[in-house]
Amino acid sequence: MLRTLLIIFLLFPGLPLLAAGCGSQGVAMQVLGSGGPELTDGRASSSYLLWVDGKARILVDTGSGSALNFEKSGADFRDLSAILYSHFHVDHSAALPAYIKGGYFLHRNKDLPVYGPEGNDWLPGTKVFLQALFAPPKGAFHYLGDFLPGNSGSYSLKAHEIPTGNREPLPVQILGDLRIQAIPVHHGPLPALAWRVEAQGKAIVFSGDMNGDFHTLPKLAHKADLLIAHNAVPETATGIARKLHMPPSIIGKIARLAQVKRLLLSHRMSRTLGNEAQTRKEIQRFYTGPIQFADDLDCFAVQ
Ligand SMILES: [Zn+2]
Repeated sequence: MLRTLLIIFLLFPGLPLLAAGCGSQGVAMQVLGSGGPELTDGRASSSYLLWVDGKARILVDTGSGSALNFEKSGADFRDLSAILYSHFHVDHSAALPAYIKGGYFLHRNKDLPVYGPEGNDWLPGTKVFLQALFAPPKGAFHYLGDFLPGNSGSYSLKAHEIPTGNREPLPVQILGDLRIQAIPVHHGPLPALAWRVEAQGKAIVFSGDMNGDFHTLPKLAHKADLLIAHNAVPETATGIARKLHMPPSIIGKIARLAQVKRLLLSHRMSRTLGNEAQTRKEIQRFYTGPIQFADDLDCFAVQ
């Protein structure tokens, strides 16, 4: 069985590895949530985990349901070097209290940086988001306030707000052996970021939710080994859905412009699920590299 799987993987290196093997060596990206905000898609909401040599190091977004998949993945909350947020819509952030409360039982003792966008009238910034959840006396879960800086928890959540006015990649942040970089993306009026994480010379880029109008993602995703693009709308989308999200043709143009090595489509919703053949066709008008569709707990070795 193992031999057969190995042969299949060698023949088709784009295929996901088994979840149990994710990240045992090298760099791997695991999908914790491949869905959007719907209650009917059978998927956790947006969340991804970057593994380096068997350790879960970067968590990108914490959509609802993702904490259960974090547990199923075998990840250890104490290994995380940072949490990165694309934006603070529910389907990208709602599970954070579950991670913090669950992590309490693991006695993490090193600070946990939380990077995300600054706020505007539509959504809170990263600092306000953490305060609104955890800060005494009015935070919704202020009983977890020990994990904010200056309090008595075994570690602190350290908020880092990224400005969203730029149209060029923002300065690289170094987290030990990892390099992280953001660029603002157009998600309607909402402050939103795409993220690039580099480890062991491999680059993984997360589009987050975006419609492509800032033309920023190709710069951040230049020659990435893996681009995770959000496939929230079909080619025919109009109105608000199109103002917030990129159709497959835009994904294809970005992947081609950026010359990414592989493309993974996630944030799958009822309006795109079942349309995979059409979606692939629209993307392939512009991008000829490998294309895959994400499911929860899929694990991709980045080679
Ligand atoms: Zn979303």
